[in-house]
Formats: sequence, C-alpha cells, structure tokens
Amino acid sequence: MVKERIFSGIQPTGVIHLGNYVGALKNWVALQDEYDCIFSIVDYHAITIEYDVESFRESILNAARTLMACGINPDTCRLFIQSAVPEHTELTWILNCITPLGDLERMTQFKDKSQQHRGNINVGLLDYPVLQAADIVLYKSHVVPVGEDQLQHIELTRRIARRFNNRFGDTFPEPRYLLSHTPKIMGLDGKTKMSKSLNNYIGILEPPDDIWEKLRTSVTDENRKRRNDPGNPEICNLFTMHKSFSSQDDIITINRQCRTAEIGCIECKKKLFENMMRELEPIQQKAAELKKTPDVVYGALAKGARQCREIATRVMEEVRVKVGIRVQRDA
Ligand code: SF4
Repeated sequence: MVKERIFSGIQPTGVIHLGNYVGALKNWVALQDEYDCIFSIVDYHAITIEYDVESFRESILNAARTLMACGINPDTCRLFIQSAVPEHTELTWILNCITPLGDLERMTQFKDKSQQHRGNINVGLLDYPVLQAADIVLYKSHVVPVGEDQLQHIELTRRIARRFNNRFGDTFPEPRYLLSHTPKIMGLDGKTKMSKSLNNYIGILEPPDDIWEKLRTSVTDENRKRRNDPGNPEICNLFTMHKSFSSQDDIITINRQCRTAEIGCIECKKKLFENMMRELEPIQQKAAELKKTPDVVYGALAKGARQCREIATRVMEEVRVKVGIRVQRDA
C-alpha cells in the first residue's frame, strides 16, 4: 500500500527544548513508520529573525543530531537541511506571485513576530508562510502534523495550492493537517509559550543538574501559596509535563495528592524530574555519541537531501512547464 506523505520542519534555533520535543518530535517519531515522512531542518525560515552567523552551522548540526537521538530514523524517513534543496526557494517565488499580500499581512504569527522583532520586520518575516507552503507542496505532501498555532498556516497552504491548481492545472494535493493532541507545555513562567527567545525553556540536552534547577524554580499553581494549600493540577504547567513524561498511575496519584495537599510542589517536581530524566538520558547519550561520529550525521543529511532533490527536481520541472517559464521545442 502506498503511504501518504508527511512534511514537517523544525528551525535550528540552537536548542531543542521540551516544547519542541513534546509538541513535535515525539509525534514525528511515532508517525515515521505509518507515513512516508520528510522532515526538514528549516534553516531558511530561521534567518527571518536575528541570528548568530558564527554559531548557525553548529545549530543546524545540533538540530540534526538531536532529531536522530530522539529516534528519527534516516533509513525510514528523509531527513535533510532545507537549503540543500534550492527548489524550496524557487517554488516560493512562483507561489509569491499568486499569493495576495493581504493574506500574509493577516497572519497572526506575522503580527506577533512583528511585535517581537520591531527592529527587523523584513520581507522574509512576511513571506515566511509562502516558504512554508512551498516546503509542503514541493513534495506533494498529503498531511502536515501541526499544533493549533499552525492551523492558519496550513489553511493558507491549502488556499495557495488551490489557487495554483485553478490557474495552472491540477498539480498539488491540498494538504490536510494532523492536529497534535499532546498537551501544550508552557515556558518556565507557566504563562508564555516555551521558546529560546523568551529564555523560558528547558533544553532536552541540558545537563541534569541544570534541568533540575529550572524545574525546581518553575512556576506552579500560583494560588497554592503554602504547603498545606490544596492545588489545582489543571492550571499547573508541571502537571502538564507529568502528562508527557509520567506513567498513567503517577498522573492519577499526583492529581489526587495535589488536590488534597498530600504532596508538596517540590516532591511533585522531584517525581517529574525522575520520570523526565528516564526518558531524556538515553537521548542525551545518543546525541553525545553522534557528536563523536559526525560522519553518521553528515551521511544521513546528504542521503536525505539527495532523495528530496530527486522529488523536488521532478516537481519543479512540472511546475515550470505549467506556469509557462520552461520553453519547450514543439514536437
Ligand atoms: Fe503543580 Fe504538582 Fe504543585 Fe500540584 S503539587 S501545584 S501539580 S507542582
């Protein structure tokens, strides 16, 4: 049976944190046998905001190592760096020419990022969703795994694919989204999205002592002021983390013990740390091994890029002919 194709990307921001791991990577690993998966380290997306040129290359490699350490298997799926397949930017230009400016100006993420990066509201920031659409349709992907905050982008991708098909003939499937039902882990303040730029994150490769220190001081249910006050796990970010790292039995027990004040927040955090490290330690070990054997990572990325270019070259040939920019001799 032919598997449906999935495309998804992750930015090489220098650190892959618990939000990325729980919100995307665990899901990618689970999907890679069921679907024909293409996973990309989207470096062109990452340069739409200020970044450190010197460390960028290492950030890209670090992302690749981390993905492989988490269980992304380059023999099962295709793992590659976006800029290694230039057809992504070529297709972006063509899609730009059929995308109304107003559609991009309305994107919530553009408005948010324009606020966050007031000194650098560049064209790439505005055009980001078109590059994302090109990433997806270049491989004629059927499915895109996303969190709720990306739904608007997938809707735009569907509109762009539809517009292209209507104007130039049936070419791209309209991709559908696969919504992740994983509970969303917030930053250490318990309020904002976990992100490197907000410095409210726990990196999955951080030393255990640092992870514990961050967990120890992170915000819980703020209404629980004293040890004997009952808490409400539903509004506690640490309980959300338990849902991703602890066993069902532990989750049920903590839910009860928190509500009855049988357990204090520090004990609860210790339990979480123990369960979290049981899952993260093998990943950290694998990442350390991969760091010592860079050829394994370079080899996987080169193979992924080769496989993706084969698809991208074919699709772009079709696109160029359809939009009328490939002049062919009449038969
Ligand atoms: Fe949160 Fe655990 Fe404290 Fe309850 S006991 S408020 S779940 S940290």
